[in-house]
Amino acid sequence: MNILILGSGGREHALAWAVKQNPKCDRLIAAPGNPGIAQLAECAALDILDGDAVAGFVGENAIDLVIVGPEAPLAAGVADRLRGAGVLVFGPSQEAARLEASKGFTKAVCDACGAPTAAYAAFSDLAPARAYVQAQGAPIVVKADGLAAGKGVTVAQTVPEGLAALDAIFADGNGSVVIEECLQGEEASFFLLCDGEQVLPLGTAQDHKRVGEGDTGPNTGGMGAYSPAPVLSEAVQRRALDEIVAPTLREMARRGAPYQGVLYAGLIIADGAPKLIEYNVRFGDPECQVLMMRLGGQALDLIQACAEGRLSEMEAHWADDHALTVVLAAQGYPGTPEKGGVIGGLGDMPETSEAMVFHAGTAERDGRIVANGGRVLNVTARGATLQEARDRAYAMVDRIEAPSLFCRRDIGWRAL
Ligand code: ATP
Repeated sequence: MNILILGSGGREHALAWAVKQNPKCDRLIAAPGNPGIAQLAECAALDILDGDAVAGFVGENAIDLVIVGPEAPLAAGVADRLRGAGVLVFGPSQEAARLEASKGFTKAVCDACGAPTAAYAAFSDLAPARAYVQAQGAPIVVKADGLAAGKGVTVAQTVPEGLAALDAIFADGNGSVVIEECLQGEEASFFLLCDGEQVLPLGTAQDHKRVGEGDTGPNTGGMGAYSPAPVLSEAVQRRALDEIVAPTLREMARRGAPYQGVLYAGLIIADGAPKLIEYNVRFGDPECQVLMMRLGGQALDLIQACAEGRLSEMEAHWADDHALTVVLAAQGYPGTPEKGGVIGGLGDMPETSEAMVFHAGTAERDGRIVANGGRVLNVTARGATLQEARDRAYAMVDRIEAPSLFCRRDIGWRAL
């Protein structure tokens, strides 16, 4: 098979690494890819938000399957454009991608299907939104409606903080906001493959959103992850599937927008009861890195079956193992990251089914790898226990020579 992966982050490097292990994969191209992906696949410069350009590239290169990594091309309708041209695609339609692109839409879907989630109100004017926050009091959660790359959410501990978040969202005179009850509990990510009819649970992970150790400091895209997440026990997964995901999928089908692709349910769990915080319509980054590390080559069989509507024939075979990834980020992140710092020691890193360094924001300059983004590398390892995976990952971190990068030293602390 000729396979095209859209995207350029650590998630796409992990997808490429797993897909490449499957003997079915003949030719692998990533667009635009990154220097890590370039070591195992071809990289092509392509505007992945331009459905016509992607469709043209697919035709010219006899691509059999397109795997869409990030949310932006999905929200832009690239999967629809490709499916319209008869191309096999892994990723939801533009309408189904609203589960991530619009928080108001997701809330309305949850209302319609009875999925447990935080109580909320939605506003498109500032004055009633401010009045609502004043009436509800704090803590309260203020979310800009729309894709904001994880930066549109404020968990306000005080009313003035909530009001300031509203003022910022409506700063240019218009805006749209969802204001939510602040839920308490432990967060975890539940991944499911959906082919429009069938659903196959694909594993669990826990991310570390805050930049600082002990979950302190500002939110980031994620500083590390591990899989599985013990808080998502079999029983909690069952409840999440029966009470949240299955009703959502039925409601999406009823609306004429059946969901196909990976669905990422961000859950908060208190006393064994899951509630939905958000849906994402793609793999998490860095959660994908730990899932792919554990799945290996079978990821391609599952992705293909999902795209072909054959999930009922499939099951995922998990070893009784653990994986953990540590994000190395550039100094300054999540503010303005320092670019250009040289990274050494990568040539000596293991590249096995137990240990991989996935690239995210890197670039190649004069034959050397340099930092070129906020989150730069994902140092990922597998082990029989979480402790073993973690020890392996940090041993690799310590051998990377990168004074311009930093990481959290406590990834996995909740489960350990
Ligand atoms: P991302 O996609 O990066 O996770 P996002 O912008 O889509 O972010 P959410 O996931 O909805 O936003 O919220 C970001 C974070 O804010 C959550 O991971 C969670 O920690 C916190 N949060 C969101 N909603 C609530 C809530 N109702 N109660 C408590 N915490 C919340």
